[in-house]
Amino acid sequence: MDIRIGFGYDSHAFKPGVPLRIGGLAIECPEGLAGHSDGDLLLHALTDALLGAIAVGDIGTFFPPSDPQWKDADSAIFLRLALEELSHAGYRLVNTDITLILAKPKIAPIAGAMRAHLADLLGVELSRVSVKAKTPEGLNIDHVAQCHAVALVERIPEEDCQKSMTAVIESQRQLEDVVEDLLASVHGVEKKGRTAPAFDTDDIT
Ligand code: MG
Repeated sequence: MDIRIGFGYDSHAFKPGVPLRIGGLAIECPEGLAGHSDGDLLLHALTDALLGAIAVGDIGTFFPPSDPQWKDADSAIFLRLALEELSHAGYRLVNTDITLILAKPKIAPIAGAMRAHLADLLGVELSRVSVKAKTPEGLNIDHVAQCHAVALVERIPEEDCQKSMTAVIESQRQLEDVVEDLLASVHGVEKKGRTAPAFDTDDIT
């Protein structure tokens, strides 16, 4: 079995009057997290864990903070790119375990919603996503939020690759059919139809 592990870490300082986003959720809080993007440290740590698992750099490699186009960006964009990189490398997520360290707000009441949203963003079932939170006892860093994330990934089996390619081709055909039907009904354009293969390739004896 070809498996790999990635680890990601991030920290952001609390700042009054800034919206708080953690794990892709907007959270009611008098203070948010300062950052060039939306400051979502959980999505940043998770993105780094995925990129790290396939050794292609980190979030700053793909999205330099010096680039103005990522100002206030939705951090789900960063995660989506990491998932694309993972898929291009031939891997998929097995599970992720995430620990937030922050004095506020309480994460336990929203951890379930956060897990569900992350599972949705990652395209995996809920049982593959864990979110835990701790307060920074004894560290005297209540003004900072930190996040650690690990991600286990596995090579996508050959047959699953073929299945997903078949699904992509089928969905493209369905889309073409819809467009053709639409053109035919709106403009009276004759439907092209699909040419049947000259012979069944399974039966060329
Ligand atoms: Mg960050």
